Amino acid sequence: MEEATVSTIQVLRESSADKENVSSYEPPAKKTKVADKDAEIKHKLEDRLSGILCCAVCLDLPKTCYQCSNGHLMCAGCFNHLLADARIKDETATCPNCRCEINRNICIRNLAVEKAVSELPSDCCFCNQQLPRYQLDHHQRELCQERPCSCRYARIGCHWEGPFHEVAEHEESCAHPKKTGEEVMGALEQLDVQRQEEKKLYSDIFALLSYEKITFNDLQLKPFRTDDFITRLYYETSRFTAFNQQWVIRAKINSDHKNPAHTVNRSLNYQLVVKTKLTTPMNMHFLALSGPFGGVQMKSKIYTFEFNAESTETDYLDLPIDSVECNKLLASKTINIRLVMFQVTK
Ligand SMILES: [Zn+2]
Ligand SMILES: [Zn+2]
Ligand SMILES: [Zn+2]
Ligand SMILES: [Zn+2]
Repeated sequence: MEEATVSTIQVLRESSADKENVSSYEPPAKKTKVADKDAEIKHKLEDRLSGILCCAVCLDLPKTCYQCSNGHLMCAGCFNHLLADARIKDETATCPNCRCEINRNICIRNLAVEKAVSELPSDCCFCNQQLPRYQLDHHQRELCQERPCSCRYARIGCHWEGPFHEVAEHEESCAHPKKTGEEVMGALEQLDVQRQEEKKLYSDIFALLSYEKITFNDLQLKPFRTDDFITRLYYETSRFTAFNQQWVIRAKINSDHKNPAHTVNRSLNYQLVVKTKLTTPMNMHFLALSGPFGGVQMKSKIYTFEFNAESTETDYLDLPIDSVECNKLLASKTINIRLVMFQVTK
């Protein structure tokens, strides 16, 4: 037990020492600010701490921090990525430092590291001012004089962008408020197009909600593998019943890539399949939601398909989530979604 702790510390020391040898590791802005000896010592301590508390994968300081059973640290993003990667390659996920197994049960959060990191200084990317990390968000959103802003007349076509401290001066001389209604119509019409698209989605959903035949199922997609030369991971639900028919959902990762393990960008596509023989066509609208057990951010996208005796499955459709959310889904053992289905009767 004692030995394990000692070797862990050595590994941590080694990794931080390595980083100090890499010239690009230290942000140049920090160096120029070193004024007196006290500050220099303080900086060194901060840098040493950064080297110890950083994520073993990306070397960034973790906001949410996990640790392996030997205490090596990983940020939440890298942790999810390691688990997702291992799932795609059908391997056991391991700690990048000591190769011990990692998964959601073994690895725990390290709150002490998260708190220590939040106290470490960080440079504002707009004004280079140094602040404790926990103040950075608020500073960059509300206080920073250099934060990028746009003109308040952007909605009527002004494309000016600049730092916050120049906004007042620009707006005073901005030509847009003096333009005629006729001249700003173009900008307003562009805005209308965007709004209309958003509005259509919501009114479609509300229209669907007043249909006679609606049902939803909370589904669990379980991972399977093909036995092709490059085995591919796919997901499938067990059969579920909706509108007196049996259905399944299949999902694929990066269905447009030959080998999903070769790209860092992830996407998930799904297909709705009817398993029972249809005697009359069924016109279906459906939409996948994160549901009560999903825990990921999913946008809404409604799909339409007419199922009949010949067409029993849809194409692979986009599950509207981004790459980071996709890794979160892949990192967990099963994928939970809620599928809402609407049957259109003519
Ligand atoms: Zn990381
Ligand atoms: Zn480890
Ligand atoms: Zn700033
Ligand atoms: Zn302007």
